Amino acid sequence: MSKKILVLAGDGIGPEIVAEAIKVLDALQAEGAIDVTMEEALVGGAAYDDCGDPLPAATLEAAKASDAVLLGAVGGPKWEPLHFSKRPERGLLGLRAGLGLFANLRPAFLYPQLADASTLKSEVVSGLDIMIVRELTGGIYFGEPRGVETLESGERYGYNTLCYKESEVERICRVAYDIAMKRGKRVCSVDKANVLEVTEMWREVAIETAADYPEIELSHMYVDNASMQLVRAPKQFDVMVTTNMFGDILSDCAAMLTGSIGMLPSASLNAEGQGMYEPIHGSAPDIAGRGIANPLATILSVAMMLRYSLDAGEAADRIEAAVSKVLDQGLRTGDIMSEGMRQVGTAEMGDAVVAALRA
Ligand code: NAD
Repeated sequence: MSKKILVLAGDGIGPEIVAEAIKVLDALQAEGAIDVTMEEALVGGAAYDDCGDPLPAATLEAAKASDAVLLGAVGGPKWEPLHFSKRPERGLLGLRAGLGLFANLRPAFLYPQLADASTLKSEVVSGLDIMIVRELTGGIYFGEPRGVETLESGERYGYNTLCYKESEVERICRVAYDIAMKRGKRVCSVDKANVLEVTEMWREVAIETAADYPEIELSHMYVDNASMQLVRAPKQFDVMVTTNMFGDILSDCAAMLTGSIGMLPSASLNAEGQGMYEPIHGSAPDIAGRGIANPLATILSVAMMLRYSLDAGEAADRIEAAVSKVLDQGLRTGDIMSEGMRQVGTAEMGDAVVAALRA
């Protein structure tokens, strides 16, 4: 049966990079490798401009009715003066909450062709392949109570709450263990169990849940050490699983090990396997409309979508191989350009991936 994809191009470079991802989906569809129907809707600043709401009810309904959502990026200076509740980013948060997307998968994979793009020595990062599994709907970003008050003394007092139910820890650990079973079977759970009681419980639940996965080699690391190890010897990691805030920080660090945020996809999944797929970068207003953005992170997000939500792992493998082939051919967008390579624009890069897929 045909699977439904909701396409949300968003703002800035969003429409440009999503157009290239759609070319790839169309090419796979034309040869019968996948069976999908695509519908488009508005989110972010584009939606605000259209109807005054960064997440119109119709967009959320369409997202709920789809098997997967493909998102470009949202945001831009134009909408920064708006109240928080109307900002483009609220559209993203609303989609995450509305779809119950509790598991954020952020791979940090370095194509060997781009080893020189990293700020780290190429022997430290070449062959890097880490999957960071970040809890996305709990922890300190959502915990109550939260706020800023003025004390009787006149001093301001700000507070947030780090809290997790054990069921929330168990389900994110299961996602990490399931993914590790398809990779190197090693999981490092990152916490701050020496200081924070809630993450001491996190560690206990990680261990208890691992009893169902006898083949998984589970290790634990404090977050301060994990951040150090990520830049010291990142290849020691296979899958990392951690809280919302620790994952937010560590995944950005891991992303930069690879040199360009224009290359990295992400997935956010709910309990039913429904997911939202997007590049990790933002809407890059500084280069929007110039046809120079790197579409590969979005194209690789399509590969994740096919693998994790649409049960089309073979097509996903082919997209990843096509991207590798295009890099072998020496084609580079400006963000990953290096000496001796041929610089291409967004559309030419997308066309090259499609040609490599067909070859
Ligand atoms: P950004 O990721 O948009 O850009 C950072 C830098 O990377 C810029 O120099 C940009 O030109 C470059 N870059 C990003 N993607 C690129 C690509 N595909 N190809 C080539 N170069 C690329 O981050 P920012 O500038 O901090 O944020 C810009 C806007 O994006 C803000 O409004 C922010 O809120 C929003 N944002 C959205 C998301 C999202 O939609 N998920 C994520 C992060 C930021």
